[in-house]
Amino acid sequence: MRFSKSYIKTLKETPKEAEIASHQLLLRAGMIKKLTSGVYTYLPLGLKALKKVENIVRREMDRAGAQEIFMPVLQPAELWKESGRWDVMGPLMMKLQDRAKRDFVLGPTHEEVVTDLVRNDISSYKHLPVTLYQIQTKFRDEIRPRFGLMRGREFIMKDGYSFHATQESLDQEFDNMEATYKRIFSSCGLKFRPVEADSGAIGGSGSKEFHVLADSGEDEIIYCEECDYAANVETAISEVKYLEAEELKETQLIDTPNVSKIEDVVEYLKVPVEKTVKAMMYKDLGTDDIYMVLIRGDYEVNETKLVNAIGAIDVALLTDEELEKTGLVKGFIGPFGIELNNIKIVADDSIPKLTNHTAGGNKKDTHFINVNFGRDYKADIIKDVKTVRPGHVCAKCGGKLSSARGIEVGHIFKLGTKYSNALGATYVDENGKTSPIIMGCYGIGVSRTLASAIEQNNDEYGIIWPSAIAPYIVDVIPANIKSAEQVKLAESIYNELLENNIDTMIDDRDERPGFKFKDADLIGFPFKIVCGKKAAENIVELKIRKTGETIEINKTEVVDKIKELMKQY
Ligand code: ATP
Ligand code: MG
Repeated sequence: MRFSKSYIKTLKETPKEAEIASHQLLLRAGMIKKLTSGVYTYLPLGLKALKKVENIVRREMDRAGAQEIFMPVLQPAELWKESGRWDVMGPLMMKLQDRAKRDFVLGPTHEEVVTDLVRNDISSYKHLPVTLYQIQTKFRDEIRPRFGLMRGREFIMKDGYSFHATQESLDQEFDNMEATYKRIFSSCGLKFRPVEADSGAIGGSGSKEFHVLADSGEDEIIYCEECDYAANVETAISEVKYLEAEELKETQLIDTPNVSKIEDVVEYLKVPVEKTVKAMMYKDLGTDDIYMVLIRGDYEVNETKLVNAIGAIDVALLTDEELEKTGLVKGFIGPFGIELNNIKIVADDSIPKLTNHTAGGNKKDTHFINVNFGRDYKADIIKDVKTVRPGHVCAKCGGKLSSARGIEVGHIFKLGTKYSNALGATYVDENGKTSPIIMGCYGIGVSRTLASAIEQNNDEYGIIWPSAIAPYIVDVIPANIKSAEQVKLAESIYNELLENNIDTMIDDRDERPGFKFKDADLIGFPFKIVCGKKAAENIVELKIRKTGETIEINKTEVVDKIKELMKQY
């Protein structure tokens, strides 16, 4: 491509709306342009990089035995009503009607459509297993579209779906996809980590997310400093350290004036925090049911775990007014010494192992001491609902847990029979028995992966593309466009690189070299070839964007050197 003819409009200033590096640089380098909130045009440079990511995904998916299809974006509401997700997904879906007033949705994902496909095509175990995938635009009306391509309302996803007769077959494909994802993200030049992830209320036997590690990441990853344990904080577990169990003592109500925070309870009652329990009041946003969540004083409630524990779509803490209606006293709530009527108790799984703990007195300015689970109160649900924090103990090896920020670029999931049951996708086994098909699903945020690559590879001057996904690998720059010698050398190197299938740009604009270098650094070509003063001797300067290193080489060495460097950068 000739720079002089290209549709590249770089910006000097950073657009105000862009908060993170990838968003700023995608706009400044002229890779994307915003149409409206969360919706972007891919300009020639951005599209070229996107296609490179897509092709890596395609190559590895094909190699893993998956087959590419292309399903419709426009999906009839009936399918979503059949699966029960028309209401569950709610406002996240971009809905529309046709001229006959029939409801449709622009696909936010394709479990329904793909399950409809196979329920009509697959009937026998002989057709299984099979894995299908597509690379396509998805639509989600996100509450907060932001960070450019990171969280769009229209974005590109690779979504794959596998179909099996047995759980073992699904497990095998899940592992195959995990290995495939590792190859994909490594090939894109990314530093990433597979982590255990939330599988939602349906439980499911497995779900892993792939996170690109970056400070701007919206997710928190908990990982062990000593072993390979890593999980999204939404689902991370830790080992609880207990005090030695005591003989059960008699419960006593104590006056605790103005003492409601756990720190104050610890100080005032002179008890270790491990013997305190706090009660958090939540409601199920779907059913309006109210829950008292009991958790040891040194832990916080993890709302994702709570949602799963009670099978809710979402939960929220009670407001002060809502709390007042329950008759409970803010700051002094506890499970003991009160009629709870319709309030259900969720106890964190550490609670039953505590002895003689404190609890709110259910009267202003009072607390109980020596309360005991089982003897004094019971729970409707006992589940791990703790949030893991850095410094907690790894449940796998006893090591110290730490945390890091991550961007979710991929998610693999054992769906089981959720959709095949709902939509009646069945197969007949060797013995003539009919069963629902067992499914897995595998997503990659293709456009988000592109943004993540920039998030990990940039400096104050611009993008530093890994060669594998750089829109162009080399920028050939004649320093002085008026020098026939320099131009001739640049043109011949440009042509030779193209002949070797190396994506190359020539900056043939009549501009000062400094101006061209600035654009080159902003756009992020991994390598620059500058044809300058030594052009007469066929000597050029090769600059490596990542290291800033410059080497002088002869024209004849350029192609081999670039090929060699592409493996490294
Ligand atoms: P998130 O938690 O970030 O909203 P998700 O868990 O809802 O994502 P999935 O349904 O698992 O997303 O979709 C598969 C992949 O698609 C995600 O791993 C992510 O990389 C990408 N993705 C999801 N939502 C968006 C979006 N709004 N913009 C860009 N990429 C997205
Ligand atoms: Mg996900």
